[in-house]
Amino acid sequence: MEDTINHFKLGFVERIYMEEYFKIFITPKIKAAKSNKPKYGYCWRICGEKSAGHFHLFWECYIVSSFGEKVVSEIRSVISSEIDFNFSVVYLGNLPPELNKQDRYLLQISLAGCKKAKTTKWVSDEPPTLSE
Ligand SMILES: [Zn+2]
Repeated sequence: MEDTINHFKLGFVERIYMEEYFKIFITPKIKAAKSNKPKYGYCWRICGEKSAGHFHLFWECYIVSSFGEKVVSEIRSVISSEIDFNFSVVYLGNLPPELNKQDRYLLQISLAGCKKAKTTKWVSDEPPTLSE
């Protein structure tokens, strides 16, 4: 967790958000460490990752990252500005400053829905769909 927080140079609010997020969602990596059984560390989406932590499960896992790309693609087709598909924008809400108020609101709502869909499918081996 500290690596993620330091890597993205998070502010106070973002840091609190990420710390709470990490407390709630137990990962295979945490289970493996607590049980001292490395076999419990495999990603439950069966992607081959042997030590699946939060960053992997929410962002890096190729099975679920395709869902995030689809969401951002849908958003790009609606709003007038180009947005990057990266962790800072999607998870930390660091939105482009040139966004107008309406696009900013739409983007925030859409990204919140994206995060909710991922968390509701937290232990599933299937990624969420756009209709969810
Ligand atoms: Zn994975």
